Amino acid sequence: MKIRNGIIAMLFVLTLLTLLSCGSDSDEENGDVSDGKNEISDVAVRAYIVKIDGREVGYVSDKSELDKLSTLLAENKMNELIEADTEVIKVTVNSKLEGEETVADASGITSAEELAKSFYENGERISFSVTVSEKETKYVSFETVYKNSSSHYEGTKVVSVAGKNGERELVHHVTYTDGQESGRTLVSDTVTKKAVDEVVLVGTKKSTASTGKYAWPLKSVYITSSYGSRYLNGSYDFHLGVDLRASTGTSVYASDGGKVIYAGWLSSYGYLVKIQHDNGDQTYYAHLSKISVSAGNRVYKGQIIAKSGATGNVTGAHLHFEIRKNGSTVNPVSYLPSMRGVTVSYSAAPDSCHVQTESCLSRSVPRASLSSRREREAHL
Ligand SMILES: [Zn+2]
Repeated sequence: MKIRNGIIAMLFVLTLLTLLSCGSDSDEENGDVSDGKNEISDVAVRAYIVKIDGREVGYVSDKSELDKLSTLLAENKMNELIEADTEVIKVTVNSKLEGEETVADASGITSAEELAKSFYENGERISFSVTVSEKETKYVSFETVYKNSSSHYEGTKVVSVAGKNGERELVHHVTYTDGQESGRTLVSDTVTKKAVDEVVLVGTKKSTASTGKYAWPLKSVYITSSYGSRYLNGSYDFHLGVDLRASTGTSVYASDGGKVIYAGWLSSYGYLVKIQHDNGDQTYYAHLSKISVSAGNRVYKGQIIAKSGATGNVTGAHLHFEIRKNGSTVNPVSYLPSMRGVTVSYSAAPDSCHVQTESCLSRSVPRASLSSRREREAHL
């Protein structure tokens, strides 16, 4: 097609040259095509002068070329952005493109395509607004959920499900005018990855390990008979523990963590629970109406092990409580926290020993012999 057009043009030029040479003596014997062209371009023709923001930038043949130029500029800009992997939504030419009818040298007239290309190559200042689609990833922090767990010890926290952050994808249409952001619209907000809650198990299981510190075996404590020598039923004897006021059915708590080594009837003790603690100490809970643990069980400090009662050798319902160290009884009061409101009522002792102290006890009767005797004899 181009070749054919070229041939036609050449023929036209040759004809013109022939005509010209007829009218005058040409100096040039070998007038070639290019010379012919030069002569044609000297012809002034009607054209459109193109102005960008008032600057004269070139000539086009007519108004349709001017309209085409605006489209081409936008297209070129769009192609440039696409090549840079930008998701273009819209390109607007802000610069004012105007044309004015004029008469120009034919050689100075260019096509809209050539003009657009030269603008691009020469870095002609043209104002554009480009709207592009931009994605933004936002992280969604996971929530932490706490759940009680009876299979984990109190004071421990175990992560059973690790939390995972979620993700949201936001799409914005952002407009840049000459490189500067001039507008932004959020077009979508999608959860692309759901956050996973972190699950933390909070241990509720009580440790059955001994703490080494004893607690009172009742919630409300009133000592009705203290440890040591006492005058009872017309004779002196030695009380191996403390008697605590408790009506039948009152909850009895393990004084410390440990292992139940006896749970059942034992002569004058009636229903009895013995707990062996980790340091070898034993605690006794006697005259119970109901036992809720079995020998071999581990119990935690403060666990309900029984209900108080009036079984065995008693004159009334109460809880008899003992602490034994190395097989011998000790005064439990010395190992229990002092409690406001704890009232101690002492029985008359043979030697006016109203306050039970080690020295007082040692003056009364040898403890070891009493201990063994008391196991066999009637007990209150
Ligand atoms: Zn007692």
